[in-house]
Amino acid sequence: NGFVKLGLAPELIRAVEDLGFTQPTAVQAEAIPRAMPTAEAGAAAFIDLMVSSQTGSGKTAAFLLPVLHTLLQQQRDEQEHERLEFQRLADEAAARGEPAPKRKRRNPTDPRHFRAATPGALILCPTRELAQQVAHDAIDLVRHCQGLRVANVVGGMPYQLQIARLQNANLVVATPGRLLDLQRSQQIKLDQVRFLVVDEADRMLDLGFADDLAEVNQLTVQRQQTMMFSATFAPRIQQLAARVMREPQKVQI
Ligand code: AMP
Repeated sequence: NGFVKLGLAPELIRAVEDLGFTQPTAVQAEAIPRAMPTAEAGAAAFIDLMVSSQTGSGKTAAFLLPVLHTLLQQQRDEQEHERLEFQRLADEAAARGEPAPKRKRRNPTDPRHFRAATPGALILCPTRELAQQVAHDAIDLVRHCQGLRVANVVGGMPYQLQIARLQNANLVVATPGRLLDLQRSQQIKLDQVRFLVVDEADRMLDLGFADDLAEVNQLTVQRQQTMMFSATFAPRIQQLAARVMREPQKVQI
């Protein structure tokens, strides 16, 4: 399978195989290796990407695969850290002759256990239909990734269901208006977002989302990587790119 040489996690290769993809498309072959983390002074480093591509080119997997790969890697690191921490507490308790402490469990559907969602990755789409399609593709790709959860945030969905799913989500696919509604009502916090993708940036501007994008840009204070996909690199797209990205590499298919 041609995806193996891109360095993606085995869980993602299995999902791609399940979907019957045998070779990366042009945009995937160009964008995925550039979007993958590189080690720099012991820490992961990322570059920003600006990609011109059309619908039907395979652009959705071109941004989802590297984002999911890095979320998996970070989650593994966090779990290992938590495991070691728990082990340390258990060892200390044993030394005092006490029973090991219990791990706390949280029930996201219990209103008393509510806490704001803190996704690690955010995909912004201009329309509800596109957001639903992208979320659908993401759910296909995480099928073998234990513990990676996808939530879709668009107007018109049953509110309670959306909130319950959202609380545990690592990846949120959203339209900007609805996302900021949930942010203002403190259902979601954007300060843990490390990866931001703006899909169909040209349509985003056509639909008047420039101010919303600026707000998301401000709120995502821990961002490590931004990718923008657009049908064209028109001057207004370049201006938007200059505002939300640092020295983006351009990929033109
Ligand atoms: P997109 O441009 O992201 O809307 O993708 C267009 C269609 O191509 C979708 O139905 C994908 O499932 C499919 N697709 C994406 N990548 C590949 C691939 N590498 N091989 C075969 N089909 C693909």
